[in-house]
Amino acid sequence: MNKEKLYDVVVIGGGPAGLAAALSADEKGASVLLIEREARLGGILKQCIHDGFGLVRFGKKMAGPEYAQTFIDKIEKSKVHISLLTFATSIEKCDDGVRLTLVNCDGVETIIAKSLVLSTGCRERTARQIAIHGTRPAGVYTAGSAQYYTNVLGYMPTKKCVILGSGDIGLIMARRLTLEGATVIGVYEAKPTPSGLTRNIHQCLHDFNIPLYTSQTVTRVFGKERLEAVEVTMVDENMCPIKGTSKIIECDSLILSVGLIPENELAESLNVACDNRTKGPVCDQNYMTMQDGIFVCGNALHVNDLVDYVSESGEGAGKSAAQYQNEKRRLVEINPDNSFLYVVPQRLNLEKPIDSVVMFFRSNIERGKTKLSVTVDDKEVYTKIYRALRPPEMERISIDFTKLPIDEKSVIKLSLKEVSK
Ligand SMILES: Cc1cc2nc3c(=O)[nH]c(=O)nc-3n(C[C@H](O)[C@H](O)[C@H](O)COP(=O)(O)OP(=O)(O)OC[C@H]3O[C@@H](n4cnc5c(N)ncnc54)[C@H](O)[C@@H]3O)c2cc1C
Repeated sequence: MNKEKLYDVVVIGGGPAGLAAALSADEKGASVLLIEREARLGGILKQCIHDGFGLVRFGKKMAGPEYAQTFIDKIEKSKVHISLLTFATSIEKCDDGVRLTLVNCDGVETIIAKSLVLSTGCRERTARQIAIHGTRPAGVYTAGSAQYYTNVLGYMPTKKCVILGSGDIGLIMARRLTLEGATVIGVYEAKPTPSGLTRNIHQCLHDFNIPLYTSQTVTRVFGKERLEAVEVTMVDENMCPIKGTSKIIECDSLILSVGLIPENELAESLNVACDNRTKGPVCDQNYMTMQDGIFVCGNALHVNDLVDYVSESGEGAGKSAAQYQNEKRRLVEINPDNSFLYVVPQRLNLEKPIDSVVMFFRSNIERGKTKLSVTVDDKEVYTKIYRALRPPEMERISIDFTKLPIDEKSVIKLSLKEVSK
């Protein structure tokens, strides 16, 4: 009988989060297996040939593949075992940790991991998820697929397109397709404010005279074999189409940039508790989910706008997974009020260091000068004044929770309040 291979740490997903997690677990002396379903490491960065990666971490603007390569070079020199073209299809808890079923060209294999890091990234919302009426012609792409066609396969997916949604991938593709000679008629956003980073609005739209139309959405598509036109309609504050405001725009493609959702099938199969706000697992400051020994990082935890923070969370998760000893946790809940889109982590483990807890958050709406306040049992432990906050811009803070007495019954609250100028 074949004996199942045993690793201290198994990392699922070889994007920037998984690369950083595998490297830091290896540095802590763990035996590590990194599993990637594609033929090459690097995750989504493989298709992001624009610059803008690594500013926080390396102090310079790098292209996506260049950023990924700095980690791939290191991993190739490390002791990390790498399994490419391998898909983790299921996971279950067992006495030694977690049993994983892997499928690759050699067949089906089961292995055991003492601890597991989920770094499976996120997926794009599709046309089916936003209910557009009409036929089902070719020419409706997610922005990520259009990017893959253009940057990896070398195919032009469109000559004349409409982009729905002002998420970062849509903005980057508006510029990319324009540079390749396509006409981008406009970016249409159902919300009253754009969803992408301010820098992308300027560098990808304004610099290329591509119009951005807010409070408007695509309500219908037309075309038999290939898309021929879309219907665009203004929407009210509840995002309901306003009668009599529709117009028809001729185009051969509709490119959707309407949101990203953490990829969590594997986490769900382990009954890992998820946060309704992030759509990713609930975790503590060491990136451990509510299932002992299961860690999460990168876009599988929450959708990040900067890869630098993805790598930071990967490093944290990998280190914690390598040091995991099945120890008991003492958890306290972190309670953001309604002024946040979300806050990560959602729990503090009092058995681990709490003197520099890294937290990420997004405001739920655009705000002017705003005070962030973090309290423990109604006493302020941290404050920060922001000149402005926008939901697309993720904020990072580091808090020393040892300043005040804290135990499992403590109530940790976060709030955002606009202050006068
Ligand atoms: C178009 C675009 C533009 C961006 N631009 C910028 C920018 O300018 N600057 C910046 O800092 N950031 C940018 N980002 C953000 C940054 O690239 C991402 O946040 C980061 O790549 C996420 O890393 P990740 O490792 O969490 O996920 P991914 O890179 O998505 O990697 C996840 C990996 O997991 C693998 N996987 C998933 N499920 C399984 C499974 N069951 N078995 C095996 N393998 C699996 C996938 O194949 C993939 O390789 C951009 C992102 C996109 C999409």
